[in-house]
Amino acid sequence: MTRQRSEDLYSRAQQLMPAGVNSPVRAFRAVGGVPFYIASAKGAFLTDVDGNRYIDYVCSWGALILGHSHPSVVRAIREALARGTSYGAPHEGEILLAEEIVQTLPWVEMLRFVNSGTEAVMSAVRLARSATGRPKIVKFEGNYHGHADYLLAKAGSGVATFGLPDSAGVPAEFTQHTLVAPYNHAEAVEKLFNEVGDQIAGVLVEPVAGNMGVVLPAPGFLQFLREITRRHGALLIFDEVMTGFRVGKHGAVGAYGVVPDLVCLGKVIGGGLPVGAYGGRRDLMQMVAPLGPVYQAGTLSGNPLAMSAGLATLREMTDDRYAELDARVQALQDSLKEITHRLGVPAQVNRAGSMISVFFTECPVTDTQSAMSTDRQLYARLFHALLKRGVFLPPSALEAWFVSTAHTDTVIERTVKAFRAALKEALAG
Ligand SMILES: *Cc1c(COP(=O)(O)O)cnc(C)c1O
Repeated sequence: MTRQRSEDLYSRAQQLMPAGVNSPVRAFRAVGGVPFYIASAKGAFLTDVDGNRYIDYVCSWGALILGHSHPSVVRAIREALARGTSYGAPHEGEILLAEEIVQTLPWVEMLRFVNSGTEAVMSAVRLARSATGRPKIVKFEGNYHGHADYLLAKAGSGVATFGLPDSAGVPAEFTQHTLVAPYNHAEAVEKLFNEVGDQIAGVLVEPVAGNMGVVLPAPGFLQFLREITRRHGALLIFDEVMTGFRVGKHGAVGAYGVVPDLVCLGKVIGGGLPVGAYGGRRDLMQMVAPLGPVYQAGTLSGNPLAMSAGLATLREMTDDRYAELDARVQALQDSLKEITHRLGVPAQVNRAGSMISVFFTECPVTDTQSAMSTDRQLYARLFHALLKRGVFLPPSALEAWFVSTAHTDTVIERTVKAFRAALKEALAG
């Protein structure tokens, strides 16, 4: 397997973009080596510029639940394209996608489309602050909500009080209203509410965490968040940018039965084009401009190509499709568990619907501390051993793997076979 053309492209790219990429993890820094350049993608497969083919477990970071270039999505985009690329004025496509979402997620009574998950979360937080007249937001360590200044915070090694900025260029004042608690630790949240409950606008959470690998909510954790926010007059905001239409048709709300006040969506609802959305209770959404005082706008929001790709995706994803996908990913999970067990490697295989990840550690992974205990060197070796065998995992040990409906039984079987051989090789050093 040669990657000469990719290497040449990467040299050129590094002169032009930081580390040659437009999103950091794509640069392979967590696993080493040089990223490959995609020439085309179809179904479960990526083809690089050197003609190598890979089974794709990134699937555009979860956006592509139908896999690449699904015929219905391509057709929908093509039809929309014939009618123009962007209007900056209302069109029916926005209504159709909104109706599809509202019908499937009835707790989203009203919504607003934006262009990314980052924007969706920023807007939902602004709305929560306005609705409550309070400044503070509780978030969880290891949860990712996009790159807004005040959300790039997680607890330093100490008490979960005032968040410390995670990125350079974020003044400490900007995160002073961000309170960080360890994921799945109800007592830490309780403590924050006991201390400053009357200043907390909302609790923002990934109801299933997917940005430190897949970490499920502990039994009762989401119910607890619902109860404590209600008791203190704060809002509960579910960041379902990754989990929405991914862990199941009704997202994490459907899976766990806890209904938040506001929901953030993205990824799958754009069908591979740039989309985000925030929505929820009608009384809250009616506070958004121009109905209300919470300003939020977007030049390309409700983009007709993106709306059509999202709609085509959601319409393809019937209950049967979700059930079939779930069964397949469960089979994958079972196989990965069996292989790691047989090879005597301590491993946790966490899964929520079609999101899955393997942590190489003894302890159950329930928060950042346990997630970080994964053997990242082993993961990096496994990553390259799999890449060589034509399987592309996320280039970081702390990211979820995404499976699409295009990952057929045959594709899963090939993956399992490659995984067994690659893990043996990785263990040998
Ligand atoms: C991907 C993601 C975001 C950010 O979405 P972008 O479209 O990359 O801005 C926010 N929250 C969660 C939970 C995500 O997984």
